Amino acid sequence: MTPGARPGGAIVRVDVLYTGGTFGMADHGAGMSPRSGLGAEIAELVGEFVAETGITVDLRYDELDQVIDSADADAGTAARIAERVRSGRTAGRAHGVIIIHGTDTMAYVGARLAFELWDSAVPIVLTGAQIPLGQPGSDARANLHLALRSLAAQLDPSTSLAFGSGLHPAVRASKRAVDEYAGFMTVRAATPPAAPVTLPATAGGPGGPVGLLTVFPGLHADLLEAALRHYHGGLVLECYGSGTAPMSDPALLAAVRRASERGTPILVITQCDSGAVDLARYQPGRALLEAGAVSGGDMTREAALAKLSYLVERGYSGPQLRRQLTTNLLGELSDPLAAVPIPSAKADIPSRDRSSVV
Ligand code: ASP
Repeated sequence: MTPGARPGGAIVRVDVLYTGGTFGMADHGAGMSPRSGLGAEIAELVGEFVAETGITVDLRYDELDQVIDSADADAGTAARIAERVRSGRTAGRAHGVIIIHGTDTMAYVGARLAFELWDSAVPIVLTGAQIPLGQPGSDARANLHLALRSLAAQLDPSTSLAFGSGLHPAVRASKRAVDEYAGFMTVRAATPPAAPVTLPATAGGPGGPVGLLTVFPGLHADLLEAALRHYHGGLVLECYGSGTAPMSDPALLAAVRRASERGTPILVITQCDSGAVDLARYQPGRALLEAGAVSGGDMTREAALAKLSYLVERGYSGPQLRRQLTTNLLGELSDPLAAVPIPSAKADIPSRDRSSVV
């Protein structure tokens, strides 16, 4: 038996929650939209898995009252899914939970679920499809089987995405393809925290809306100001490179400073797929730092948004929030001390293996 695998012949008890997405979509002439009532089709797919693998699955199926195109996910979607998972789990019967979800926001919702369900005793696996179930070339069956296989094999109670050829840690995943079966990539390898963390499970503060804005050449101070006013709970600012933005524009700098003074946290992440934010490296980064921004290290945009919104909704603010944001809680953030300095020549930078695992 491989380490962490369930004993041979064991029954794997799985809860499947269908929330919508291409997996169960059909086009009735107005563009694809999700169908409801997928229970029988899922049971059939699970039956095929049992026949092919010899692994016995005890399935419990559930679906949201309103299945959606995941593009319609809102700031409360992940929390509602987490609530449904928690209530379905009260009997404590399942060895794992599979959430069938649209791919457009799977990484956002998955990252937030990782925080919402951080204390889950069982693995949570999100999956979906690029081509609907029953259509030629559909990847729905293969992805559901991948999710089942991963639950049968793993005991690690973390949240991941099962898609294409592998599993992606939810706090490190991003959708990167609309035209390939491998729709997601693990942007950076998950980095298990040095010590186990404990996060508050219930809402503790007023919070406020939390948002995300990408910096681009020509970013107008009015846009940043509007974002910081609306998302007064906190803003993830997706900057260039090591955490730079056009901070020589005094209006942009003033907007960041004013928001910080009002108590709105600004979490700086990078648009790059490799390396981390280092606000002290360049003058624009230092300007952001001095205006009150916090470094988001090497977090993905999805994980940064999930972490900031989760912590703000749990009542974290000020130095306590800053401490949590800069601490690796679930593998979403590399230890800054372990960051590798830039070698002197580009040719020295080893190419990263981004292939996924299972
Ligand atoms: N628009 C779809 C969704 O996210 C795309 C998909 O599932 O692949 O629900």
